[in-house]
Amino acid sequence: MSDGIQLFTPTYRVEECLAEIKECLERGWTGVGYKTIELEQAWTKYTGLPHAHFLASATAGLHLAVRLLKERGGWQDGDEIISTALTFVSTNHAILYENLNVVFADVDQYLCLDPKSIEAKITPKTRAVMFVGLGGNAGQLEEVVKLCKKHNLKLILDAAHMAGTRINGRHAGHEADVTVFSFHAVKNLPTADGGMICFAEESLDKEVRKWSWLGINKDTFSRTVAQGAYKWHYEVEVEGFKYHGNSIMASLGLVALKYLDRDNSYRRQVSAWYDELLGDSIEKVPTAPGCESSRHLYQILVDNRDEVMLALNESKIYPGVHYRVNTAYQMYAHGANSVPKATNASERIISLPLHMQMTRLDVEHICQTLKKIVQSMPAKKVVPAPAINMQPVG
Ligand SMILES: *Cc1c(COP(=O)(O)O)cnc(C)c1O
Repeated sequence: MSDGIQLFTPTYRVEECLAEIKECLERGWTGVGYKTIELEQAWTKYTGLPHAHFLASATAGLHLAVRLLKERGGWQDGDEIISTALTFVSTNHAILYENLNVVFADVDQYLCLDPKSIEAKITPKTRAVMFVGLGGNAGQLEEVVKLCKKHNLKLILDAAHMAGTRINGRHAGHEADVTVFSFHAVKNLPTADGGMICFAEESLDKEVRKWSWLGINKDTFSRTVAQGAYKWHYEVEVEGFKYHGNSIMASLGLVALKYLDRDNSYRRQVSAWYDELLGDSIEKVPTAPGCESSRHLYQILVDNRDEVMLALNESKIYPGVHYRVNTAYQMYAHGANSVPKATNASERIISLPLHMQMTRLDVEHICQTLKKIVQSMPAKKVVPAPAINMQPVG
């Protein structure tokens, strides 16, 4: 513990990962196809979702989600997608990539989009809602589904935190027109980088496979396997992107998937210890009823957040913040003052350390330290922006 307790520490089953990767190297196949197909099949089997396509990242997936729905729906530049400001910037960048406007709605007690706020932001130009299951929480997703049906809007689910989240017993993703998961190193199903895009509609799943590989209509693997003089032959149908995943990352994903439920239940155990040991002394972000959260995050709310973080750092405890409200960034400043709850939360939230290598003793130590710090804090005062130990991404 000399390095202290970090926010996230990815756990890899090293020998099993190396065995999967070894198969790729021995076969001489590290690219798209082979293990990427195995992972797609394993993911649809695990989630029950009808389709899954493995990509280089969730950011790529969110971009393709917006791109394909825009094409299919005949949306125009300047049309609007309602989104949250309390997210990783990928969520909203994906909307900007396609020349659509981000309209921010506010969050509820789960720090997910509030359906009432969404409804108030709908205009004749609204085409879709981008919902983020923050920390693995489903929030009021079911209400948002109803709202989207009522107003004929598409629903994009940024499920970067939701690998393994179940809503009323079913894996997250069945609710949306398209769901995007992240398999980045710090997420619940760690590869190094990777993402999964799951369209509800089969034709869009077919389409996205083309878009993720520069618009080419069949992948190298099926060409290699194909017979005859024309096996080198392919058609380029659209100006797609180089967004597909590869077999090395898929190898890591195949191993991680075997442990996802076990890991998530340990995350829920750590969270239950936090709940128990923090008691009523610290305000916590609740999990929505009916949601078995992946527990990507354990979030609390405190006053004097930045001072509390610095004091924790002094005790070698390194929490995170998810997230700085996106309207604080220049490119999303048009939304400043439009989302007071998200803005307020952004100033008060802390994500406590949560990963597989933590023990009950770590949680006890963190809770005791945190309670002592919070009790010793004077009434909230303004301090200059301090240097906070931040994780690079996630
Ligand atoms: C991590 C994250 C992403 C991006 O995932 P990548 O796989 O790193 O591209 C998108 N949205 C949210 C909410 C995230 O936390």
